[in-house]
Amino acid sequence: MKDKAEVLAGAGDNTRLAHIGNDPMDFHGFVNPPVVHASTVLFPDAATMEKRAQKYSYGTRGTPTTDALCDAINELEGSAGTILVPSGLAAVTVPFLAFLSAGDHALIVDSVYSPTRHFCDTMLTRLGVAVEYYDPAIGAGIARLMRPNTKLVHTEAPGSNTFEMQDIRAIADAAHKGGAVVTIDNTWATPLYFKPLDHGVDISIHAATKYPAGHSDILMGTVSANAKHWPQLWEGNFALGICGSPDDSYQLLRGLRTMGVRLERHQESALRLAEWLEGNDQVARVLHPALPSFPGHELWKRDFKGASGIFSIVLEGGSPDRFRAKAHAFLDALRIFGLGYSWGGYESLAVHVNLSDRTICTAPKEGPVLRLQIGLEDVADIRADIERGLAAARAV
Ligand SMILES: *Cc1c(COP(=O)(O)O)cnc(C)c1O
Repeated sequence: MKDKAEVLAGAGDNTRLAHIGNDPMDFHGFVNPPVVHASTVLFPDAATMEKRAQKYSYGTRGTPTTDALCDAINELEGSAGTILVPSGLAAVTVPFLAFLSAGDHALIVDSVYSPTRHFCDTMLTRLGVAVEYYDPAIGAGIARLMRPNTKLVHTEAPGSNTFEMQDIRAIADAAHKGGAVVTIDNTWATPLYFKPLDHGVDISIHAATKYPAGHSDILMGTVSANAKHWPQLWEGNFALGICGSPDDSYQLLRGLRTMGVRLERHQESALRLAEWLEGNDQVARVLHPALPSFPGHELWKRDFKGASGIFSIVLEGGSPDRFRAKAHAFLDALRIFGLGYSWGGYESLAVHVNLSDRTICTAPKEGPVLRLQIGLEDVADIRADIERGLAAARAV
C-alpha cells in the first residue's frame, strides 16, 4: 500500500483492518510482521546502552510484533497508546491499579463483568480503595455519587449478561467535573461498533480474547488511553512488569484482519434469532440492545454503529423453584451450541447466567437467564438447535 497513512485516514473499517499495524516494507515486503521472541536486545556500544538510545531496549518494553498490534489498536481506538496484558481480566485490573490509591473511592457499574467485581471486592478493597456500585441507568445522576476522593468511574456498556446500556457521555462529563478518570470495558462492541474515546472516555479496555482473537484459542487484553492518561497507564504497567507474548500478539493481529467480516455475520445472525425469539411464547424477554423493545435501545442507536453476536433470553420459568431445572433442560438438549464460558469465537455457546452477585441489576423474576453467543454456523441450524432447547425447557 502506497501513502498508507493518507489512504487509511479516509478508508472504511474493513480496509483499515486489512492494512493497519505493521508496514510490510519495514520487513523485506513480507505481508505479515515477524514474530520476535525476545528478552535481551543488544546495543552497539556502551554509550547507546547507558542512554537506551535505540528503538528497542528489552523484551518487556515492546518488540516489532507487539508494536504492530498496539499500533493497529491505536488506529481503531483513536488512542495515544495501548498496553497488552495476558487476559481481559488483567486489562481491567491493571488500569485500576495504575489509577487508584489507598483512600480513593471508585464507582463501578453494577452490571459489570463478574470477575471485575470480585477484584474490586477483594484486592482493591484490601488495598484501601472504597468501592461503590451504581445503577447503569444513572446517566448524569452519577454526579450525586461523586465524592471529593472519587478517582475512577468504571463503565461497561452493554453490561455483562443482562446488556444494560449506559449514557457514557453524560457519565463521563459528570465524572470529569469531579476529577475522576473514566474507564470502559468495551469488549461487547469492539472498537468497530463503539469508539469510547470519542464519547468522553479516557481508557478503553478489551478482552481481546473475544472477537479480536475470534477463534477461542487466545487469552489477551488491551488497554488504550487518551493522551492525557497514557503516561500514567504506561508507568503503572511498566511498574507491574506485565507484557503481551509475541505469539499471541501475532495471532491477535491475524484475527483483527477478519474481525469486520466476522462481526457482520455475528451481528446479522444474532439479530435475526433475537427477533424470532421475541415472538416465542417460551421466552419472557430478549435482552439485546438492538431490539427496539429493549430499555436501552435509544442509547444504543445514538452511540453505537452495530451490535455483536451475544445476547440473553429470559425463559418463561413458571415458579422460581423450577428455573434451574428449565435452564439445565434447555442447555442439555443443545447439539450445536457448546456449553462453555467466554465468547467471540466462531462457534455458538450457551450458558445459564448467575446474577447472584448483583445488588441493583438483580435477576429477572420471570425465569432463568440464558446467554447465547451466536457463532458463524448457518442460522437455520442454530435456530433448530434453540428450538430443541426450548422444547426441552417446556417439558419441565
Ligand atoms: C471475557 C470478558 C473479560 C475477561 O476476558 P478474559 O480474557 O477471559 O480474562 C472481561 N470483560 C468482559 C466484558 C468479558 O466478557
